[in-house]
Amino acid sequence: MATLDINRVRKAYGKMEVLKEINISIEDGEFLVLLGPSGCGKSTLLNIIAGLEEITDGEVLIGNRVVNDMAPKDRDIAMVFQSYALYPTMTVRENIEFGMKIRGIPAAERAKATQQAAEMLQMEGLLDRKPSQLSGGQRQRVAMGRAIVRHPDLFLFDEPLSNLDAKLRVDMRTEIKRLHQRLGSTIVYVTHDQIEAMTLATKVAVMKGGVVQHFGPPQEVYDRPANVYVARFVGSPAMNIIPGRLLASDGAPSVAFDTPSGEAVLHGISLSAEAARHYAGREVLIGIRPEHCARDPQGAVPVGVDVVEPTGPDTLIVFSAGGTEVVARLDPHATEVGQQDRFAVKTEKVVLFDPETEVRID
Ligand code: ADP
Ligand code: MG
Repeated sequence: MATLDINRVRKAYGKMEVLKEINISIEDGEFLVLLGPSGCGKSTLLNIIAGLEEITDGEVLIGNRVVNDMAPKDRDIAMVFQSYALYPTMTVRENIEFGMKIRGIPAAERAKATQQAAEMLQMEGLLDRKPSQLSGGQRQRVAMGRAIVRHPDLFLFDEPLSNLDAKLRVDMRTEIKRLHQRLGSTIVYVTHDQIEAMTLATKVAVMKGGVVQHFGPPQEVYDRPANVYVARFVGSPAMNIIPGRLLASDGAPSVAFDTPSGEAVLHGISLSAEAARHYAGREVLIGIRPEHCARDPQGAVPVGVDVVEPTGPDTLIVFSAGGTEVVARLDPHATEVGQQDRFAVKTEKVVLFDPETEVRID
């Protein structure tokens, strides 16, 4: 097990900078998820940690040792890729034992480690099959088994579930979480799926264009996103970002925005006194999660309902406010929503962003 520190890491291919000053540190046993859209630099950063890519600038430390110039095989890591990279002519058992064999581990010990991994991943019945006789999920399990028997300091996963169908992805996600809980190992996991990030991570690094936009625990990233990009990337339906204004007042700060049926004023926004003074009377972007709206005849927001979308557990209500489309997520069993209605907002959950920089205001 190991800590991981990524200090001022930059990566350029010729003139093209794909990673710009990355700083991330995690403790022993943490589960770090690198989250972002395709092309943002996730795999490049993972490959740098693995030693498969050279660093242009900065340093990587695994367990307090600088590994910049250390060969991948000396780093005590195990990597699981999206393409499982199994040997097709070998059985599952041989695939799992292969690495140990190369390292000269005795047969009895290899068999024991393989048996343990197979139990942990519930694939004891598959050990004598060839990869071609396995489903996608089972192959992914073998790839994980091969990583587990190495007892690495650090597990690296690159979009391991991307090739699986939706149902299996959810099952394997649980499997990976269970694995982390049992092994207590340090994991770095790349995905573009924000749900995977939320469910698995102890820390998330949200990336865009080679820059870490927000690094923190998943709940913090969800509740208090560092900027509008993060707010929209994490959560589905996305956080509503409504153009409005901060009202000048002496008490707790209030914000207002326009709706087709009149102005909505939200009182009791949490904001520092300094920010409240600075933004008083100025435009702000008001961030409201869909689940923080509720139907309430005395609510602050007049709503003309455009669309009602029942999803089963929730009902999504689409309406217009601040010149933009807003989504509310309501309990389907709560009172029927009328065409013209009023919603209350949990104001203590509202976050504000600067309309120019799109950075969160505190
Ligand atoms: P992600 O894994 O987030 O989808 P990557 O780390 O694979 O993104 O890629 C980040 C950026 O670096 C992309 O714009 C990609 O085109 C570029 N890139 C990756 N590898 C190379 C390479 N060997 N040469 C040049 N550009 C590369
Ligand atoms: Mg990638």
